[in-house]
Amino acid sequence: MRQFLDIKRQFPDAIVMFRMGDFYEMFFDDALTVGPVLEIAVTTRDKGEVENPVPMAGVPYHAIGGYLRTLVERGFKVAICEQMETPEQARQRKGPNKIVRREVVRVVTPGVLVDEEHLRGEEPNYLVALVHDAAGTYGLGVLDISCGEFFVMTCEGAGAVRAALSRLAPREIVCEPGLHPWLGLELGPLCPRLEGRDPAAVGAAQLARVKRLREESGGESLVPVEERAAALALAYAEDTQPGQTLLLHRLRRQAFEAHLVLDDASLRNLEVFRTIRDGQRKGSLLWAVDATRTAMGARLLRAWLGAPLRALGAIRERHDAVEALLAEPRVRGDLQDRLRDVRDIARLAARARLGTVSPRELAALRQSLAALPAVAELLGELARRRAPLLTEGQVPGDLSDGAGLKGQADAARLPVLLDLGEDLLQDVHAALVRLLVDDPPAHQRDGGMIRAGADPELDRQLGLRDGGREALAAIEARERERTGIANLRVQHNRVFGYYIEVLKTQLSRVPAEYVRKQTTANAERYVTAELAEHETAVLGAVAAALEREQQLFTALREQVSAAGDRLLAVAEALARLDVLAGLAEIAEAHAYVRPDMVEEPVLDIEEGRHPVVERMLDAGRFVPNNLALRASATATSGAGRLVLLTGPNMGGKSTAMRMAALVAILAHAGSFVPAVRARVGVVDRVFTRVGAADDLGRGESTFMVEMREAAQILSQATPRSLVLLDEIGRGTATYDGLALAWAITEFLHDQIGCRALFATHYHELTQLQARLVGLRNAHVTVHEERGSIVFLHRVEPGPAERSYGIQVGRLAGLPASVLRRAQKLLTRLEQAQGEARPMPQLDLFTPPAPAPQPVDSVPPPLAAILADLRALHPDELSPRHAHEALRRLHERL
Ligand code: ADP
Repeated sequence: MRQFLDIKRQFPDAIVMFRMGDFYEMFFDDALTVGPVLEIAVTTRDKGEVENPVPMAGVPYHAIGGYLRTLVERGFKVAICEQMETPEQARQRKGPNKIVRREVVRVVTPGVLVDEEHLRGEEPNYLVALVHDAAGTYGLGVLDISCGEFFVMTCEGAGAVRAALSRLAPREIVCEPGLHPWLGLELGPLCPRLEGRDPAAVGAAQLARVKRLREESGGESLVPVEERAAALALAYAEDTQPGQTLLLHRLRRQAFEAHLVLDDASLRNLEVFRTIRDGQRKGSLLWAVDATRTAMGARLLRAWLGAPLRALGAIRERHDAVEALLAEPRVRGDLQDRLRDVRDIARLAARARLGTVSPRELAALRQSLAALPAVAELLGELARRRAPLLTEGQVPGDLSDGAGLKGQADAARLPVLLDLGEDLLQDVHAALVRLLVDDPPAHQRDGGMIRAGADPELDRQLGLRDGGREALAAIEARERERTGIANLRVQHNRVFGYYIEVLKTQLSRVPAEYVRKQTTANAERYVTAELAEHETAVLGAVAAALEREQQLFTALREQVSAAGDRLLAVAEALARLDVLAGLAEIAEAHAYVRPDMVEEPVLDIEEGRHPVVERMLDAGRFVPNNLALRASATATSGAGRLVLLTGPNMGGKSTAMRMAALVAILAHAGSFVPAVRARVGVVDRVFTRVGAADDLGRGESTFMVEMREAAQILSQATPRSLVLLDEIGRGTATYDGLALAWAITEFLHDQIGCRALFATHYHELTQLQARLVGLRNAHVTVHEERGSIVFLHRVEPGPAERSYGIQVGRLAGLPASVLRRAQKLLTRLEQAQGEARPMPQLDLFTPPAPAPQPVDSVPPPLAAILADLRALHPDELSPRHAHEALRRLHERL
């Protein structure tokens, strides 16, 4: 207990799982807390013998995986405390303390998972450390220790932090204590675990390591908030793996300006990673373009879509690579077949570094490395086949690293992105082949993983073991002969070791020197001195062989661990190759084209399709559409930066708008796009204000959310941005709404001048085309016949004539009487309106000054909650009252 309490003191906020023989035990409050969560019985230690028995709950050691997972998913922090020596070793130790030495070997929280069973292959497992400075600049340190990914970024303001966090979807956040309440409120269910930690407590060692890592990675040095954030992330993660050095693949810097920024609203509304309706991956943009073969590729594709590029050169490099792979379908197919054999090299390397990799996983690594020469060979073939094209001067992209054409020898160079590098890790592969059996076991503990012939010492021990076993077999034969007991058998069990078994019917022939050990229902079991001697030899050899195997395995694991950086480099190259080949496959299968990327702010799409909707419909059912957003020199040129889309509900407005945004995102991410032709000018941010996502949880009405999002857009959009607005102003009285929509449109046009698509039911707005040079009307068409309509889903120039609301109501099955009445009312309203048109030119509305959102000042509802929280006296509350108080506070969030 003293030992336990010592350890618990070091990890006060963790559930300590304390290894005792075959169990992990939890004591005191830990036991009471986890008992119900894990559905295990809570008993007491020394029950009945002492006055205040210690509550205790335990789980068998071999079943810890499942329990650990439950605890971590529920947001607990768990410290795993192991026995560091055997009881014999403890007994033989000098001094009075004969208690087995125990230490916490790792701390498990959602952000520092490394075990395969806890991780999803196609998703990263990010830990984010968040710090900020007095100027309101935030630094994010992003770390995935399961695959060695480590990067930092800077965010200006709370909105940018929210956008970054929703893209990264971290499993855990550590932040300065001051940010803790704000983040908790902001993120809600977005973040399963949040921990406050004082960055001042981060040691100089971590800061130094961050600096060194950054230097090794090349690139400009970090700003102070980034450095602090990276060090905080590293310190937190290292604390969870005592005594280990994490495997880290460089320290990259994700520059805000380098990426097309997708904020949380856009990621959600455009269903980039998951659908709005059911939160599934299927039906998302990611799903539509994911043809990757490896988990590493799937994660990289996710990263590319979440943070598309902004630099033309870098984007074109990706397009070049996709183009090369698209032009050589056979080579690409072969490549993808090879990639099927590649397992998660990055995560395997990280596990090798932490010492948790299993024999079976090392075999998976062996299989992956075996594929590399063939992959390199195929890339060489691709280069050779593309060489004639390249020598004609059509060097794809601007190879910014200077790897241009340098004579014939270099002519066969591929886009750099398709380079696997020189190091194919064949030394590591050879070691794995030499040492590891073909089909190794899942666990290291029972041996059986090292190949015969790999190590003379192991072979010798195995020989002794087998020799001993043979000797025992010989004893059996001899004794049968000698005693005449035909079914005499030499057997083995864990309790008695080797023994001779004789059936009861033959007992009369048992020689006198046999020593009876055990009686079973129909047999007696005996031992002899000779048997015992051989037994000792066999068991000794078995133990020695196992130990030797463990040594060899550990050495092999360490060899893999030492190759960690090389493995991560190859993992990165393979992931990239996988993504690019997948994009080429998608482009071929669904007729995507290479977008023409330009600086000038246009978005000109010919026969574009929505990448997801087109796949959900039967082949050929999707109606492709043209959409052109570009600055027009004259009022009659037919194109505008701003397109106002009108037409009935269900007509295809949202689909067309989203199509435009998705084409832009795909193009910037490096993918080809679903269209016949597309010219895409660089976009710095995509903003969306679509659908009515109530945020009642935050106590805001739909309209308030809508206006807040609009305010953000108006304050943040630049001339390079792409803005989608769907039916803004709908949530209030007609004239209010119209007035707001009107003013917002003007502001976007006059003040910002960005590319924008604006879907609306306010037909009055269509008059704006006459006044705003850069605005064009477009509408989705319907075919009308005898009061009934058919949606054609085609976008045509010019305003819609009407809304067809009543016809849509009919399609939806409203009762005939309601429809008739509505028709009458409509006619009357239209007449009245004809007599007194609203005067939209009136300056009804000045755009809201975008409300700055100071993050440190606590918003009023939270302030009230905090005040009540302060008024509580936890020590004086009964558990029931505490629960009640918590529930009441929670309801107000
Ligand atoms: P709106 O925004 O005008 O109400 P939507 O864009 O939501 O309409 O489209 C309604 C439905 O019509 C979509 O769910 C889709 O099934 C279908 N649709 C939209 N655009 C097309 C298209 N271009 N081709 C085929 N079907 C389409």
